[in-house]
Amino acid sequence: MPEGNRWPRLEIEDMTTEQLRDRIRGSVITALDPRMGTESDGMIWNGRKPARRARLIVRVASAEDVQEAVRYAAANGLKVSARGGGHQFSGLASQADMVIDLGGLDGLRLDAEAMTARVEPGVTNTRMAAALDRHDLAFPLGHCGSVPMSGFLLGGGVGWNSAEWGYAWQSVLSAEVVLADGRMVTASATENPDIYWAVRGAGPEFFGIVVAYHLRLHPAARAITTVIRIYPAAAVAAVAAWAEAAMASAPSKVEFTAKIVGSPHGPVIAAIATVFARTEEEAGSVHAALGTGAPEALEVIGPMPTPFAALYEATAESTPWGRRYLVDTLWSDARFGDVLARIVHEMGTAPSTESVAILSLKPASAIGVPTDAAFSRHGRICGILYGIWQEEADDAANIAWLRAAIDAVAPLCTGAYVGEADLERPDRALPTHTHDVLARLAELRRTYDPAGRFTTAAAVTSRLIAAE
Ligand SMILES: Cc1cc2nc3c(=O)[nH]c(=O)nc-3n(C[C@H](O)[C@H](O)[C@H](O)COP(=O)(O)OP(=O)(O)OC[C@H]3O[C@@H](n4cnc5c(N)ncnc54)[C@H](O)[C@@H]3O)c2cc1C
Repeated sequence: MPEGNRWPRLEIEDMTTEQLRDRIRGSVITALDPRMGTESDGMIWNGRKPARRARLIVRVASAEDVQEAVRYAAANGLKVSARGGGHQFSGLASQADMVIDLGGLDGLRLDAEAMTARVEPGVTNTRMAAALDRHDLAFPLGHCGSVPMSGFLLGGGVGWNSAEWGYAWQSVLSAEVVLADGRMVTASATENPDIYWAVRGAGPEFFGIVVAYHLRLHPAARAITTVIRIYPAAAVAAVAAWAEAAMASAPSKVEFTAKIVGSPHGPVIAAIATVFARTEEEAGSVHAALGTGAPEALEVIGPMPTPFAALYEATAESTPWGRRYLVDTLWSDARFGDVLARIVHEMGTAPSTESVAILSLKPASAIGVPTDAAFSRHGRICGILYGIWQEEADDAANIAWLRAAIDAVAPLCTGAYVGEADLERPDRALPTHTHDVLARLAELRRTYDPAGRFTTAAAVTSRLIAAE
């Protein structure tokens, strides 16, 4: 057994693995390779690695490689997981028998005139933002630069400026998908509409592998501008009342987030308003209106220009690479003040001062969210709790804290966002999809993946179904 590999050895005939190697342009790492433990763990972004590891990694270089790998898995009875960038905090991507690593599949083609793009799964937010910028175009990209399109879009994509541009899935026109029998299909409103329905929000419950997305793009916001107001925890009620009033009349191009960070003197609230304006004048007048009624802050930073590159620099500081994480999410339609007060209280008990919580409140003018996709849980408030610490010895305390914090706020919530949900938790309180959507996904899986080739968060799913 390779060093550190906690799985029993996989019985794959070497010759068959050799055949797979010969048939693909990418590379294969087997359980016999002494690098396997490190390679499997290296696929997961979280510094806290999952208990289970991959036994066979296929690093693909083309969609045809994906098809070959899936056929190989079928012939050998292996469970398969796709891996985009390994950013799902629960480390789902590396836990199947065979991991198909799509990181090298990173083609990006923009059609500036048609305002569309074809993106392969490995394309990151940072790369996409730079390409869009060159063409004066935009997309509701995720908040962290290194996250790839792969799982971001599949989970629904809670991206920048989503009140105006919609969640990212709302701009997915079609997808190219490899199914469990190795077939490649297109999924769109007119071709395989049931797969198209699922591709927009199923996340890890999906029953195929997406090898390309076709996206609708948006006109660029040329004057993205941010103001940050810093408040002590004691100002929570005043900050929430102002935020509610400001978001009642703010235009949809405003993204308002309360970021709660630890400090030696207790939690601090950073009220962050980012305006995705077309011009500096527009940004100035929106910020001026937002500032009316703002409680007096300890410090006001900005207005400052924050193009996507600056936004990514800022978010990378809050979620540093290599730390140990446990993350969970919430959707809520409750009073902002109630949710914010609860989260500020919980942050005051966090064992690690590196931990961060964010609560975004949508403007009332936000565009609507259609109901014809698997993305089925959302709300006016989107919250994410990031438990962040450094030492393995502190795992238990931080995990227990974050789960208790989520349980404490759960009565105010309607669900969780699958992209950053604590999917390794067996007794989750907040469901990531509605009961009907989970049932339809299960039915589609029986049709398109009858042997259950693709691992899903199925165990979690069945528990969620039982809980509803
Ligand atoms: C620091 C940080 C910030 C984040 N910020 C945001 C944010 O602002 N908005 C947001 O929406 N999300 C955010 N996320 C969450 C992120 O979008 C999801 O975790 C997403 O799954 C990451 O994509 P991935 O390809 O790396 O997933 P992976 O971890 O590689 O894969 C997770 C699972 O998704 C499925 N999967 C992934 N790709 C495919 C595919 N091509 N075909 C089929 N199944 C697939 C598989 O089941 C796989 O096991 C953030 C994550 C991190 C680490």
